[in-house]
Amino acid sequence: MKNTMNTSEIDKRLLIVDDEIGPRKSLNVIFKDEYEVFEAAGGAEAISLASKKNFPVAIVDICMPEINGIDTLRELKKINSNMEVVILTAYESLDTAMSAIKYGVSGYLKKPIDIEKIRNVVSSCLDRYSFLDNLENSVRTNIESAQRDFLHMLSHELNTPMNGIVGFIELLQDTDLDEDQRFALNSIKECSYRWLDTINDILDYSRLAYANVSTAKSIFNPHTLLINIISRKKEFNPDSNIKLILQPNFPNTILGYEYDLKSVLDKLLANAIKFNPKGNILISFMYRFISEKKIKLKFDITDSGTGIPPDDLMRNNIFKPFYQMESGNTRSYGGLGLGLAICDRLCRKMGANLKVESVANKGCCFSVSVNFELPENLN
Ligand code: ADP
Repeated sequence: MKNTMNTSEIDKRLLIVDDEIGPRKSLNVIFKDEYEVFEAAGGAEAISLASKKNFPVAIVDICMPEINGIDTLRELKKINSNMEVVILTAYESLDTAMSAIKYGVSGYLKKPIDIEKIRNVVSSCLDRYSFLDNLENSVRTNIESAQRDFLHMLSHELNTPMNGIVGFIELLQDTDLDEDQRFALNSIKECSYRWLDTINDILDYSRLAYANVSTAKSIFNPHTLLINIISRKKEFNPDSNIKLILQPNFPNTILGYEYDLKSVLDKLLANAIKFNPKGNILISFMYRFISEKKIKLKFDITDSGTGIPPDDLMRNNIFKPFYQMESGNTRSYGGLGLGLAICDRLCRKMGANLKVESVANKGCCFSVSVNFELPENLN
């Protein structure tokens, strides 16, 4: 059963469950700037908190007296089946991992905590939660019930087993592996993420094509958002040379469509890497104040890859769904041809301006400029 609350209320709450105060406080410090953090000193307190408030993500220690991590996970999922729960463990045991996966765990991380890893896992969890929440919201209000049931079932059935697979991969990555095994495991992980991205593209496109419901706005740090996107891309593309130029004194917090902006930048950067595997990518991030309460952000993602022929640019072909350029060998790069169609729709929804400039065989520059609000007293 899922709590039915307004989406804006569920944004960015993180529940940390650990009977030991030290690890609990350390996690609080890691996440407090980005999330509204709640602490629970045990399973019972976590269950009580989750029945009063909606938590998109929870981090639960496995080894706790009275109600252990697995039982806490099971109870939290009963309260909100969409909640993303990450289990922390000091010892690996296949049995506990199996139970965690059976109850729908989203991540399984070994202690001591790797800060970058846990940040990435929690950020992916929040994305997935927002994605499913947006999908449910838009289908609930706009799509015929047969389509709604189909999309909901599809997203659940396709995402849940893959979360289990990714959970096992994370677990295996922390074991002793030789170089060949590590290489194989990384490839499986990369394929799993690609699979999840493809499914999410299809669902995202269906959501945008059938319905035009706005996602919830949230308060976020645009710099952290960009760093998270880049660090996840670098994990799978260590050869790509991504440079970031930031205008100094960026505001720490802005208010707007974080999930949509993240999707757009993620897809544009994915393309910059895909069509330019070993070349240079430059991301520049600028801003200017429009008024006391409004700011315009401008992101330029420039690559030195295959570029786009003038004819395709002129006819705006690349923004058409399922379009992939005939020229060159686009097909050999894979993909469905939905990424830019989704970006185009998301930008329109956010009131953003999406532009592309390109010289064939020299590279592309995709620019997104979008207005955000400045929350009072936070900058
Ligand atoms: P996909 O990447 O799945 O093919 P997209 O909608 O993201 O789909 O892109 C559509 C087409 O636009 C791509 O197939 C490619 O031909 C072209 N394209 C997009 N981004 C770039 C880029 N950075 N460099 C060169 N071509 C690009």
